[in-house]
Amino acid sequence: MNNSQIEELKAIFGDSEVLSDVEDMVAYSYDASHAEIQPEAVVFATTTEQVSQLMKFAYREKICVTPRGQGSGLSGGSVPLKKGIVLCMDKFNKVINFDPANRLITVEAGLTTSEIDPIAAEANLFYPPDPGSVAFSTIGGNVAENAGGLRGLKYGVTKDYVKMMKVVLPQGDIVTLGNKCVKHVAGFNMEGIFVGSEGLLGVMTEITLALLPIPEHRESALAVFETIDGAAQAVSDIIAAGVTPSTMEFMDKATINAIQNFKDCGLPCDAAAVLLIETDGNKSAAIADMAKVEIQVAKNDCRDFSRAKNTAERDTLFAGRRIALNALASVKPNLILEDATVMRSKLPEMVRGITDIAAKYDIQVGIFGHAGDGNLHPTFLIDMQDKEEMKRTEKAIIDLFQLAIDLEGTISGEHGIGLEKKAFLKNQIGGEGIALLQNIKKTFDPLNLLNPGKMFDMPDEKSV
Ligand SMILES: Cc1cc2nc3c(=O)[nH]c(=O)nc-3n(C[C@H](O)[C@H](O)[C@H](O)COP(=O)(O)OP(=O)(O)OC[C@H]3O[C@@H](n4cnc5c(N)ncnc54)[C@H](O)[C@@H]3O)c2cc1C
Repeated sequence: MNNSQIEELKAIFGDSEVLSDVEDMVAYSYDASHAEIQPEAVVFATTTEQVSQLMKFAYREKICVTPRGQGSGLSGGSVPLKKGIVLCMDKFNKVINFDPANRLITVEAGLTTSEIDPIAAEANLFYPPDPGSVAFSTIGGNVAENAGGLRGLKYGVTKDYVKMMKVVLPQGDIVTLGNKCVKHVAGFNMEGIFVGSEGLLGVMTEITLALLPIPEHRESALAVFETIDGAAQAVSDIIAAGVTPSTMEFMDKATINAIQNFKDCGLPCDAAAVLLIETDGNKSAAIADMAKVEIQVAKNDCRDFSRAKNTAERDTLFAGRRIALNALASVKPNLILEDATVMRSKLPEMVRGITDIAAKYDIQVGIFGHAGDGNLHPTFLIDMQDKEEMKRTEKAIIDLFQLAIDLEGTISGEHGIGLEKKAFLKNQIGGEGIALLQNIKKTFDPLNLLNPGKMFDMPDEKSV
């Protein structure tokens, strides 16, 4: 970008909200995946009008723009593949309106996810989607990736809570999509197309989310298993028994040991696997549900079942789960975290399949994740400098995705396609599916300037 273009950006955003020095670009060149490409400029938006002016400028000058929340994405979504401008949304972060009577909250897209609950709690409400990154990811990033979380089994994922949004389209037009009413069928479900759009179709600036009443009571327990198969089968059996826990998190031996070496969270290092389970609702229902859970785990090699006696004990159990990724990251120089997902009835097959793949290619793997909704995170622990190990890992990942597809599952349950899984999307949705996505992208963004090269290539685009 030339000096006059940078000056024009400063006129839109103000001098202090535009970066263009080479050394400043490094921090905006990567997310939590492995891709790294430096942009030519970084801008910080605080109004929808600024975003609109930016997109009009970008279209006139034919410069690519990549929206960025907090860069915690695990699929390369906010990495500026074709350089250009990174549009940072993290200062665009106010609460616009809290409406307890309608159980709604309207926020700017850059608000950190965990900032909603303290506000909602004032009216005994909460925002159910709680990705592991809740303390630092943004609502805009969550909607763009359709983020899931620990409560997905009972409460669903981000898409289930998005009511309305303000969006700046790639050529700068501002539209409001969706509605605050419980029912709304005037036109296509356009807000829905932006959920999981990975920053390819427009920039969300304001988002209205639904809230739910905080459950009266919750019961938390840790089930310790002698076999990994037993833990996987217990997940299926608990749901088949008619219980829908709010959380059912799985951690295998490798993950448990990584956590305990990282920080003592009281997990048993000799167990084959554990399930962290929570039931909630009114007090008697939550307690009765947990009793049914105990019966099901006992049938599946569970050697110990302990209920948290108080909030402190519960918090310690959950702390272990929340640091699982960081703990695994400390085991080897690098890791590749996947989120292939299957229907929960196929979880035992999926866990066996992942273990077999790791053995076949002689790669260390830690498995943890949201087992209740079939969304595991097989995490390959590797050294990327070891070329031979990398080749084996690449083959293992291809097998893993194929396994998920063969089991009627999906290559991504919550992290999105971005750059990391782009090569595999066709296997999942077919050539016709890719063509449909390309046509939608072309309708919104005819010059392919908003976050180009992610999820799929356009027909005339060179694959990266
Ligand atoms: C430790 C850790 C734990 C995690 N746990 C989970 C988990 O449990 N569940 C889960 O789903 N994910 C998880 N993630 C992944 C990640 O946090 C989520 O994908 C999150 O939604 C990304 O939010 P972000 O603000 O960091 O977005 P970014 O990474 O900055 O961007 C993600 C995508 O959204 C687009 N985008 C961002 N803001 C906007 C906007 N306003 N308008 C349009 N497009 C936009 C970007 O272009 C990009 O394509 C985890 C990540 C880490 C590092």
